[in-house]
Amino acid sequence: MDTRAFKRSLQQSENYHRRGFGHKEEVAGAMNSAYQSSLIQEIRESDYTLQRGDVTIRLAEAFGFCWGVERAVAIAYEARTHFPSQTIWITNEIIHNPSVNQHLRDMEVQFIAVNKGQKDFSGIESGDVVILPAFGATVAEMQLLKGKGCTIVDTTCPWVSKVWNSVEKHKKKDCTSIVHGKYKHEETLATSSFAGTYLIVLNLEEAEYVANYILYGGDKEEFLAKFSKACSAGFDPDRDLERIGIANQTTMLKSETEQMGKLFERTMMKKYGPDKLNEHFLAFNTICDATQERQDAMLNLVEEKLDLMLVIGGFNSSNTSHLQEISIERGIPSYWIDSPDRISSDNRIEHKRLSGEIEIEENWLPDGRIVVGVTSGASTPDKAVEDSIEKILELKAVLV
Ligand code: SF4
Repeated sequence: MDTRAFKRSLQQSENYHRRGFGHKEEVAGAMNSAYQSSLIQEIRESDYTLQRGDVTIRLAEAFGFCWGVERAVAIAYEARTHFPSQTIWITNEIIHNPSVNQHLRDMEVQFIAVNKGQKDFSGIESGDVVILPAFGATVAEMQLLKGKGCTIVDTTCPWVSKVWNSVEKHKKKDCTSIVHGKYKHEETLATSSFAGTYLIVLNLEEAEYVANYILYGGDKEEFLAKFSKACSAGFDPDRDLERIGIANQTTMLKSETEQMGKLFERTMMKKYGPDKLNEHFLAFNTICDATQERQDAMLNLVEEKLDLMLVIGGFNSSNTSHLQEISIERGIPSYWIDSPDRISSDNRIEHKRLSGEIEIEENWLPDGRIVVGVTSGASTPDKAVEDSIEKILELKAVLV
């Protein structure tokens, strides 16, 4: 299908909104009291440092809500004000943060139910308002909602739309889109729905496997089994890897996306020669600034002498997992929590390991002087960071 034409027709429809509704001032108060923090502001103004008793908190110089998330949440709040009596739905979590999603539930925004892995849109009726989250929605979902006669409030981050434009360009040039991402992630699902032929590659190891297949061929059945859930229907590695373009899930580790881009560029150059590179390889810079800034700030922070690191962000937040990866790679004891409630008053913390398990650590805060590095993912409000820091300070006061 011509996804570009569909998107254009959707955007021209009077039932489609992708900007606010002019209620910024009205919703600012509610947003500030729910998500802002005066303590965090104070720490920012004190060189990102807080010193209390035995505890030194070092905050990353870029963390928390990115503008794309702030924009999406503000548009959702405005939609509630603008459509006070209509039923409002959202196709997914607006962002990966439990407290923000709970606030929307409290405002009677309904989340589409998921049954056996499938979204159930049956409750939506013509005239209902449906919000699309910051990481977008698939073409099929948008078609369905348009067909039902819904009012669509699209909060998709412009950086995500930029990636969609890139895969459209790949399609136009008959290139397969190689997407650096997680095939189950909502953003990557949406991106691949705009692509023609695509292959989703999770990490450098997978990328090297694909690059070797391009250069030397290989076992086609093994290839297809390996990427069975991560490629377009009818994908043929012998046919569909002759012309490729690179795209990414905006929240992947920037260094890895860059390395992957270079790997495929070298691969195509080796296979087809430098003078033919442009016929076989396309790349656009679609790494979002916010992800990049948070990762760079984290890389700076882990250079310091930290006793431990606290990483705050939704457990299904991709950009938060990459922040956690950085401190684990440096060998720093690092705890990933999705809410301050994971820290209990008996010096226990319930945290998520990179492998996915939720674990409880007893006595996670050591005795004596400690330096704690703190950062948070792009979907995490400052308020959650403040509450987490306060819990650390309370615990240390008790321990002292
Ligand atoms: S992390 Fe980047 S792409 Fe994602 S919502 Fe924020 S600004 Fe947009």
